[in-house]
Amino acid sequence: MPAKSEAQRSREIKRYGLYVGGKWVDAEPGRLIPVVNPYTGEVWAEIAEASAAQVNMAVTAARRAFDDPGWRQMKPSWRGRLMWKFGEMLEKNADELARLETMCNGKVIRETRAQMGSFSSWFYYFGGLADKIQGEVVPVEMEGIFTYTLREPLGVVAVVAPWNSPLLISVYSLAPAIAAGNTVVLKPSSFAPVSVLRFASLFEEAGFPPGVVNVVTGSGSTAGDALVGHPVVAKVAFTGGTSSGKSVASRAADHLVPTTLELGGKSPNIVFDDADLAHAVDGIVAGIFSAAGQSCVAGSRALVQEGVYEDVVSRLVDRTSRLKLGDPLDEETEVGPLASKDQLTKVSSYIELGKKEGVLLWGGGRPESPALRRGFFVQPTVFKTDNRSRIAREEVFGPVLSLITFQNEDEAVQIANDTEFGLAAGIWTRDLGRAHRVARALQAGTVWINTYRTISYSVPFGGYKQSGYGRENGMDAMREFLQTKSVWVQHTGSMRDPFAMRS
Ligand code: NDP
Repeated sequence: MPAKSEAQRSREIKRYGLYVGGKWVDAEPGRLIPVVNPYTGEVWAEIAEASAAQVNMAVTAARRAFDDPGWRQMKPSWRGRLMWKFGEMLEKNADELARLETMCNGKVIRETRAQMGSFSSWFYYFGGLADKIQGEVVPVEMEGIFTYTLREPLGVVAVVAPWNSPLLISVYSLAPAIAAGNTVVLKPSSFAPVSVLRFASLFEEAGFPPGVVNVVTGSGSTAGDALVGHPVVAKVAFTGGTSSGKSVASRAADHLVPTTLELGGKSPNIVFDDADLAHAVDGIVAGIFSAAGQSCVAGSRALVQEGVYEDVVSRLVDRTSRLKLGDPLDEETEVGPLASKDQLTKVSSYIELGKKEGVLLWGGGRPESPALRRGFFVQPTVFKTDNRSRIAREEVFGPVLSLITFQNEDEAVQIANDTEFGLAAGIWTRDLGRAHRVARALQAGTVWINTYRTISYSVPFGGYKQSGYGRENGMDAMREFLQTKSVWVQHTGSMRDPFAMRS
């Protein structure tokens, strides 16, 4: 077959604009960002690098929609119905969304399809909560006074998402935000924006008023900065790395805007000597090699009790050596490429560091198969190391595991908590008492016992320590997007002394 000409190739490249006020807005001249497929290394799409003026346009559209009676005065049960309708549309479009996301970030299709298939539930759950937002009557011991509270939306919510699960992570904030009556401007990562753009276009089809959901694309330092620093934005829900999260929080603080921060992790997966080892090794593999380790909850430190260490290593190396690397669009593939060339460089340099700091037990390079050469692959890699090494302390965000041994329960807890992060942790044991004792002692927002990497719309999710603050999912998430107003009514008598505060 003759090679494709430049002109043919550029015709095949899909171009995506911004989604603002229910309309597509083209990029300004010369402001396009290429989107690279991490499996082929080729550019397959282009997105707009939004200017500050375009971000302002999106925030203004969102604020206009917030103030418009069409949204502001919509009955909450109707908001809920729209969300249900949207959830049904997501189910119908799940396959397309999954493919688009896999082409952006290389996450294997079996995972993106499972995610897209499940996240309609977020719209059903939060849609169901839209008409259950209620204040309360608060008793006060003052004669003739009656007080109650109202729970009101905040206004325009900025949702900033990373590239590893752009759509699911956007939905974690967007679904409760709109259920609460806010409007939203989404900024996905410029590395993986396409599924989010396609998703946004479904809102109007579902019947949402224009401007309720808007999407701006562009890099964090330009479009992202203009969005989180915009004076009209009333709340920032940010998911990403810890250092970006700190910058975003301080930028938002210029306008005293509250933030929710879902940041990085270095989660321990602790295997006690009484655990079902086959099950525990599956848990270690799920923790660090699913999504090629590019998961905020990656179980990147496996803490293994000394008595079962050799057994765990031999099972783990055997399982790891059989992992199927390949085309992420292939249903059989278990580990896809890293999401970008930058990620490949970063993860490879951590692997080189690991070779100096620890003992390499498996992997440690790039796969040799010619079929994988163009993609941003690294081998699933296992090091034996200790908790002071940099690969055990810093977030690698790749398929690189630090195996660390411990002698007893106290030491396991001490090592597990000896990290600046606190997002998640796993415990593998058959001892029920120990499982609950250790779960309490761990400093992490999520603890899994004899399972790993499970998540639900109804269970709060968020970090301790440098992994962030605020909670997604469940009733806690609704609270993040509401503010409380207290109303005082004097129904008998008159104000007593106008010059003294009554309390
Ligand atoms: P980044 O922090 O680099 O980026 C996250 C998002 O923020 C992107 O959309 C990025 O834009 C944008 N951004 C970056 N800097 C700024 C800024 N100063 N102002 C406004 N926006 C900004 O993270 P990654 O995309 O590299 O994602 C990986 C990180 O995300 C990991 O640390 C991971 O642990 C964390 N994460 C946390 C999760 C959680 O729930 N706790 C879940 C998933 C990931 P752009 O990319 O276009 O430059």
